Amino acid sequence: MTGYVITPNPQASAAVAGTDERFPVRRIFCVGRNYAAHAREMGFSDKEPPFFFTKPADALVETGSTIPYPPITENLHYEIELVLAIGTGGANITPEDAVSHIWGAGVGIDFTRRDQQIAHREKGRPWDWGKAFDNSAPLAPLVRTADLPAERQSLAEGRIWLSVNGEIQQDASLADQIWNVSDVIAFCSQSVTLKAGDLIFTGTPAGVGAVTSGDVVTGGIESIGDIAITIGPSA
Ligand code: MN
Repeated sequence: MTGYVITPNPQASAAVAGTDERFPVRRIFCVGRNYAAHAREMGFSDKEPPFFFTKPADALVETGSTIPYPPITENLHYEIELVLAIGTGGANITPEDAVSHIWGAGVGIDFTRRDQQIAHREKGRPWDWGKAFDNSAPLAPLVRTADLPAERQSLAEGRIWLSVNGEIQQDASLADQIWNVSDVIAFCSQSVTLKAGDLIFTGTPAGVGAVTSGDVVTGGIESIGDIAITIGPSA
């Protein structure tokens, strides 16, 4: 057997509600500007096809964690998001087939170093340093879509909300998504072959804003779950 020259990192994974078993995570894709009111608050129209960026799988953080305030930012933003867990991969998945590729769903936060994102965007540089940093992807335990009430299994509706220190900042419905989960999977799988274990953060509604050390961020999605993260001091 061939060994590794350094110790391999552990498999990134996400908790699964109601069990000790975990969902092994391969890649994390994220959709930009998927709610019209959020696209407008960021200065864009709400009429463009979905686009994607990525985070490293080891940016995942469990709910209940305290994360250090990250480096190279003075404008750390929360973004509450519905997260899809892909159970069956594929390329060029049709919207009609897309839901059958979903294993489960969860509540995630796409933490964003907004000052870095905007500075790099204005220079035509990649978004990575604004989006793909340590602890930037908190995720509550996943729920199997098959275990959801029948009317929720399409992930097409349900309240999505986020509070900072108990005050509501984001409050919308999954029905407000410009591109629904089927469209998101279809578009994403046109550009990459989705694989089992991939996660897709599906975008955030309006109301994004900054948090700082000591803030407690809570959020949830109706029928899917709740998340709570505390922002600690800088590491
Ligand atoms: Mn986002």
